[in-house]
Order: sequence, then structure tokens, then C-alpha cells
Amino acid sequence: MYKAKAYSVSSATSPFASTTIARRDLTEHDVQIEILFCGICHSDLHQARNEWSGVMPTVYPCVPGHEIVGRVSKVGSAVTKFKPGDLAAVGCMVDSDGTCPECKAGLEQFCQNMTLTYNFPDKHIGGVTYGGYSDSVVTEHFVLRVPSNLNLAGAAPLVCAGITTYSPMRHWGVTKGKKVGIVGLGGVGHMGVKFAHALGAHTVVFTTSPGKKDDALRLGADEVVISRNADEMNKHAGSFDFILDAVSANHDINAYISLLRRDGNITLVGAPEKPLALAAFGLIMARRSLSGSCIGGIAETQEMLDFCGQHNITADVEVIPIQKVNEAYERLLKQDVKYRFSIDMASLKAE
Ligand code: NAP
Ligand code: ZN
Repeated sequence: MYKAKAYSVSSATSPFASTTIARRDLTEHDVQIEILFCGICHSDLHQARNEWSGVMPTVYPCVPGHEIVGRVSKVGSAVTKFKPGDLAAVGCMVDSDGTCPECKAGLEQFCQNMTLTYNFPDKHIGGVTYGGYSDSVVTEHFVLRVPSNLNLAGAAPLVCAGITTYSPMRHWGVTKGKKVGIVGLGGVGHMGVKFAHALGAHTVVFTTSPGKKDDALRLGADEVVISRNADEMNKHAGSFDFILDAVSANHDINAYISLLRRDGNITLVGAPEKPLALAAFGLIMARRSLSGSCIGGIAETQEMLDFCGQHNITADVEVIPIQKVNEAYERLLKQDVKYRFSIDMASLKAE
């Protein structure tokens, strides 16, 4: 094992502080990565503050970070896809069993033995896994290739925010001729707008923040609805094929269900701390459906990165040094980020 610099929280209420963590020595199938940029996902905040205590309680100290882009520094003897110097990305998963029906279907995110990038039992050295506010050692299968034309700070969020929106849109057939809604213009939502637009759909953004209207149009929206305005909402009743809900806090999903046409679908990717209230009639009356979606499998994540390379899609980021991570979390809660913080990990060397 070796020691790596990292930023961690030691409880649900403590700020991030500089620390060192143990990383495993490379096994033959491992890739060691010097992390260059790591995005800050709202999931990092939920997890650092133990807001998902009922589903996946946080083990402290916690080192979040699952939007990782970096350069390969070493590879194990059996690694064939990567060599030192290559660009590489790592998202929310670092391992799975590789043998179950989910893994065989390329849906590693649903494998019962999947290992999340942080806060999950570490099968190699015990304790829990530590994420990207550090450097990293990851099994080859979970390391992705980054198209060389993409800006690296903006590419990091693709492996969580990007795949979280790309995967359900592909699953639900978002394409030209479909009317698609994106609820919540945050880090995840703004990637949803870019993909819905790139896939050719008529794209409508629902936001609680009137100040984001111009940005939504610039990002690719055809229309913007201020969701607190009932008249604006009602104009779209019964008209959507698909709505992606990327809201991080409690909100009224029934208002969006009523905007779906017959057989339309709303997919939740936002994961608020508390349960959402659901009125049955909204679904019953037009055979509408409500579903969820969790990131995407490794092959689809690579497909998404390649799609981004072809269409020159990256996240809109504000690059910060790691020393500003506490401030960034407070700003995330105030919806004051356009539209993703990306940590320049070179700043960790100063610790
Ligand atoms: P974010 O950047 O903080 O964006 C969340 C957005 O939700 C805000 O920008 C805001 O958009 C809207 N919002 C916030 N509070 C609201 C409220 N009280 N009422 C209505 N709207 C509100 O967060 P993110 O990183 O995009 O993540 C969004 C959610 O997705 C989080 O819960 C995260 O854990 C989850 N997530 C899930 C997956 C998955 O695989 N399913 C993957 C990644 C993230 P407006 O200002 O436009 O209203
Ligand atoms: Zn995430």
C-alpha cells in the first residue's frame, strides 16, 4: 500500500480537510491514475452529509468524487487497454463481479456485487473505497477512454452527470420528433439539455430560477418554463413524450406527470433525501409511467464519451482549487454554480 493525499470529511457536519489515505499497490489488472480534474456532483454532498443514511449510510472519513479525469501513471502486467501517459476517466463504479446477468448485459451499475467509487466496502484493502478528491487505482474494466479533443475540466462531469442523462434518454428513445422536458438546470440537468438537443428532440427546460433562462436557451433548449408559474406549466399539459427529473430536493412531481401525453414517461435521476409524494391518478389516466435510472453501464459510458467527442460536448464548468471545496458545497446548495464545479487537482499538491 502507499499513501495518497486527499480531502475528506470526518462527520456529516464537518468541513473538508486535507488528509492522507491508503491506496493499494497495483495488481496485475489495475490502472493507476494521476487525477487532473474531478467534478463535484450533488451526490457527493448528499453522501458527505449523510443525507442518504437510509439507503447507503456514510462511513467516515469520507473522500467523495466520481467524476474523474486523469493521466495513467502506471499499469499492471495484465493491462492491455491503457499505457502510462494515456488520458483516462473513472465514473461512479470501480468494480463488479463480471459474471452475473447484469454484468453480462453491460449493466454493471445494477450488479449486486458492484463497488461504488467511494463509500463502498473495499474488497482489496478493507474499509471503504475513497473517491476522486485524491489520486486513484482502478481495475482496468472500469477505466474509460477520453476523446482527445475534449477540454479535460469539462470532460470530468461526463462520467456521472453525462451518462446519468444520456442513458435514460437512449433507453426511452429520445430522438428527433420527440418532445422532451428536463427538470432542474443543475450539473446533471444541463447535460440533459445538451444531449436532448444533440439527439434532435424538441427540448424544454423547467427551472425554478428565472435567471437561468438565457443559459438554458444557449445550452440547447427550444423553450424554457419557469416551473413556479402555473399558467406557463398548464400550456404544456399532456404534451411530453419524455421528462427527465434531475432535481436534488423535494418538489411536486405530479405537476410534471400531468404534462406527459398518453404513454409518456418521466424518469427520476435526482435523488432527494426525503420521499416524493405521488398522486396515483396522474399515472392512471393516461397510462403514463414513472421510472428511475442509475448512471449507465461501462460500454454505454464509453459510447457516451465517444458521442461527446464527435459532437464536442462537455460540461460547462467553473474550475476551482480543492481548497475551495467547502465554499463550493455551500454554493451548490444555493444553486449558485454554472453548471458544474470541476476541481483542478494540481491544487492538492500544495497540501
Ligand atoms: P445540482 O447541480 O445541485 O442541481 C440540482 C438542481 O435542482 C438545481 O440546480 C435546481 O435547478 C433544482 N433544485 C434544487 N433545489 C430545488 C427545489 N427545492 N425545488 C425545485 N428545484 C430545485 O445537482 P446535480 O449534481 O445536478 O444532481 C441532481 C440530483 O441528481 C442529485 O439528487 C444527485 O444526487 C442526483 N444524481 C443521480 C444520479 C443517478 O445515477 N440517478 C447521478 C448523479 C446525480 P433550477 O435552478 O433549474 O430549478
Ligand atoms: Zn454523480
